[in-house]
Amino acid sequence: MKTDTCQKAGKTSGERVLNGVGVSEGIAIGTAHVVETGLGTVPEYAIEEDAVGSETARFSRALAQARRQVAKLKQKSSALSEATAEELGLLLDAHSAMLSSTRMINSVGRIIRSRRINAEAAVQEMVHEITQGFARIKDPYLAARIQDIRDVGSRILRQLTQTPYQAFSVLPEGAVIIAGELSPADIALIDPKNVAAFVTAVGGAEGHTAIMARSMGLPAVLGTTDLPSIARSGQMVIVDGEVGRVIIDPTETTLNEYRRRAEARNRLNRQLTRLRSLPAQTIDGTVVSIQANIELARDLDGALNAGAEGIGLFRTEFMFMNRETPPGQEEQYALLRTVVEGIQDKPVTIRTLDIGGEKFASGLRESITDSANPMLGLRAIRLSLKEPKLFETQISAILRAGAHGPVRLLLPMISSVHQVRQVRSIVNRVAKRLRRRNIPIADPLPPIGAMVEVPGAALIADSLSQEADFFAIGTNDLTMYTLAIDRGDEQVADLYNPLHPAVLRLIQFTVGAAQRGNKPVSVCGEIAGDPRFAPLLVGLGVRELSMTSQSIPRVKQRLRGLDIGPATRRALAIMDQTDEGQVSALLDDFNEGL
Ligand code: PEP
Ligand code: MG
Repeated sequence: MKTDTCQKAGKTSGERVLNGVGVSEGIAIGTAHVVETGLGTVPEYAIEEDAVGSETARFSRALAQARRQVAKLKQKSSALSEATAEELGLLLDAHSAMLSSTRMINSVGRIIRSRRINAEAAVQEMVHEITQGFARIKDPYLAARIQDIRDVGSRILRQLTQTPYQAFSVLPEGAVIIAGELSPADIALIDPKNVAAFVTAVGGAEGHTAIMARSMGLPAVLGTTDLPSIARSGQMVIVDGEVGRVIIDPTETTLNEYRRRAEARNRLNRQLTRLRSLPAQTIDGTVVSIQANIELARDLDGALNAGAEGIGLFRTEFMFMNRETPPGQEEQYALLRTVVEGIQDKPVTIRTLDIGGEKFASGLRESITDSANPMLGLRAIRLSLKEPKLFETQISAILRAGAHGPVRLLLPMISSVHQVRQVRSIVNRVAKRLRRRNIPIADPLPPIGAMVEVPGAALIADSLSQEADFFAIGTNDLTMYTLAIDRGDEQVADLYNPLHPAVLRLIQFTVGAAQRGNKPVSVCGEIAGDPRFAPLLVGLGVRELSMTSQSIPRVKQRLRGLDIGPATRRALAIMDQTDEGQVSALLDDFNEGL
């Protein structure tokens, strides 16, 4: 990331320009709201004697994660201007030293052992002990270190609790939220009506934080390492989510330029809304179904306004976030019913809980123990099958919502045929129970589909098509797992490429298997909403795309200018390539002609 201070007409203006990863398009001009990460209230509970070892190990893992985070920030800071890099580097070195200090590590271990309390409470106690001690010695240097210790404590606590920031209730109008890091759960707390954009120091383009930004239609820039330490609440900020630029205290000239660009964008969007009621029909008459991905019931209006033909992916895990206990059957049913009725007889594809990995729900803390590799751990369908009560509650709510309109049931992270069979037998059992109690449910039972987002699932797509009623290809995870690249890590963002021939072959094989098995197949990963990919996906035989509502008009526009014949030929030519650069060139060359 680069930062520049502007020199205009011999006078130094205060304008600062920072570059990061633009993950959600749009221009926002607003007021900075810098999120402070205070310690806040942390959970405190007693632990059994035999849990002391595992609690200490949990603390050690959080510590290691916090150290990695600091090292990552340090590495990124080397790209900053010399003075900023030096200033930030010193601070991060101090934090890194504290995170390795045996005194601190030992005192947390001692507190866990002697007081038999959880790691979070022990960290808080340790911070309290040290800061009290420093405060007693009247020394300005030590006084300044108190904030460092609090920051370090905060960093460890955030790893332990994954607690979302709760600071979004009071926001200035047009707030640009600026934070070190925002988790998907944090974003779920943001009311898009009060927020103009957000900017974070870490995060990649395909992580759920970025997906949420796109889904809310908010411009967002991630990976601007030193922004939280430079920006101050109340400053004027411009966020350009397309190129990934953030401008603090812009000059009048810059401001006018961005106002002009924002207006041009709005004009274009207004023109695209004319496509709302037109089908996504190609020149030769092939119809592609365009549906919406939603995370929360509040996204429903956006889907309707964009002319979505249904909900192709409802990420239900968001209703489990930011609460201490999971929602019960009635609450889930009420919410799902709102969506099913709200979309007015169009199909709703409800994906069962996909928690785990980067998506955290504190109410499920008991079920998901720490994992060294959360992306490969107990997440999604694996968790649901391990926690029958949790799963059956959700299935009951889905079946009941299905009494109010067409629903489809979608299973995340499927990796074996057996998992689909297991789910089908659970669905049948739950349906029988509800019928016995005369509770209205979907009739016939909803189709059960598999997300194809694990390479193993794609490679057995022919067998899976015998068990599953439909496929939804999740290219976000499919790319991550095929290429072994964390989709949310900005450090490897340049290697994350859905156009890699390995990913494309898995997509092609899955689509072919679905066609041979006569089963519908959609793509619901982020590429489905990128007009650049539309000719390739349609050329490979995909006829259903599900995307964030914001992307619908532009994808529709692209499809309406497309002829299936040439698109299919180009897709086949692309599939002959072994190099991702050539794939890219062939795709761009084809798009240029459109
Ligand atoms: C995917 O992995 O492509 C997908 C659609 O699911 P999610 O982004 O929620 O993991
Ligand atoms: Mg996924």
